[in-house]
Amino acid sequence: MRISYEIRDRLMRKSSNTLGLCFQCGSCTATCPLSVTSSAYIRKIIKYAQYGVIPEDEKIIEILWRCTTCGMCVSSCPRGVDIPSIIRGFREILSERRIQDHRITETLWRLYEAGNPWGYGSGEIKKFRLSMKDLFEEKTSHKPDYIIYSCCSTVIDPVSQKMTRSVATLLKRLGFNIKILDPMCCGDVIYEAGEIAFLEEYAQKIFDVISRLDSTLITVSPHTHYMLKRVYPELGVKTNVEIIHYTQILKELIDKNKIKLRSSDRETVVTYHDPCYLARYLNIVEEPRSVIENIPGVKFVEMEHSRENTLCCGAGGGRIFSEETGVRLARYRLKEADDTGANMMTTACQFCVRMFVDEMKIFSSKYINNITDLSELILSRLE
Ligand code: SF4
Ligand code: SF4
Repeated sequence: MRISYEIRDRLMRKSSNTLGLCFQCGSCTATCPLSVTSSAYIRKIIKYAQYGVIPEDEKIIEILWRCTTCGMCVSSCPRGVDIPSIIRGFREILSERRIQDHRITETLWRLYEAGNPWGYGSGEIKKFRLSMKDLFEEKTSHKPDYIIYSCCSTVIDPVSQKMTRSVATLLKRLGFNIKILDPMCCGDVIYEAGEIAFLEEYAQKIFDVISRLDSTLITVSPHTHYMLKRVYPELGVKTNVEIIHYTQILKELIDKNKIKLRSSDRETVVTYHDPCYLARYLNIVEEPRSVIENIPGVKFVEMEHSRENTLCCGAGGGRIFSEETGVRLARYRLKEADDTGANMMTTACQFCVRMFVDEMKIFSSKYINNITDLSELILSRLE
């Protein structure tokens, strides 16, 4: 075990100087969702960081890569230690030593070679463009009111595609002129893997695209929103373009009476799952609730863990590209949703919907019979 002040200082900077505040109470380990399925060792990881020691224990290295960066540990830390940033810092150091979760390595190579982390080619992007053609005029002289930035998974994942389509259809039916950008990876997986040099290079690619836009940019993915609003500006990639998450625009349009919603024949009891990045990292918690509460005939019920106290679906921190072993986190969340007695679970993230839809196939639900994204729910109730 080698103590290094250089490593310690590096991790200290990563944590915005909060690393030294840890007094080893263990709350982070107790609340980390990974503790449910294995020994999470989070407190121990922070101790390693305080000594500047790079863990060699395989189990600890595995946890460093299994962390979903959900931020639950930070909510419970009495000293406000920025634990996910320390974990990203360790990932950065491990990546430099070529010690990576092999799925992450493969994902990064696909992103490097194909331009997206899924490995699809230009033919699939073309197909996607054609599938959305009915929603906007590609060659129009009119400046769009809104430009939609959809997740790169939209090209290959029907769940994600449905979300982008719903957001776009909603805006179109309200009379707005929209444009959908060709899906472009926001670089979240590079950031989560701690590949800083690659991220800095990638930041320029993002900047080249968004700096040319002259309309409000609507993000669909909370991860994209976080990258554009927080991570890239810290790397010096700043733009004057207004960037707004789609749940925020929905609330704004409902408040201005531009969206009129109707009731349904069947009783709908809805519970909302806060995506970690939307709730804990970006503090967007009121907007989706306000949208749901404005749907006539809908009863809204909260889960035990909600808002900044939400439970992770298991996909964050680049985990959507990896395997989840043991009992999956989505299972715990579905159980909580079912315990509310709601018949519908809604959320606002393509990865969360994907995780829950997949888990639902093997989960015996008592009440939940529909998992949907908020944009789809609103579209289905538009007058
Ligand atoms: S909860 Fe905070 S203070 Fe307690 S062990 Fe974890 S990082 Fe340290
Ligand atoms: S970010 Fe989430 S998964 Fe990672 S250590 Fe904290 S609570 Fe655990």
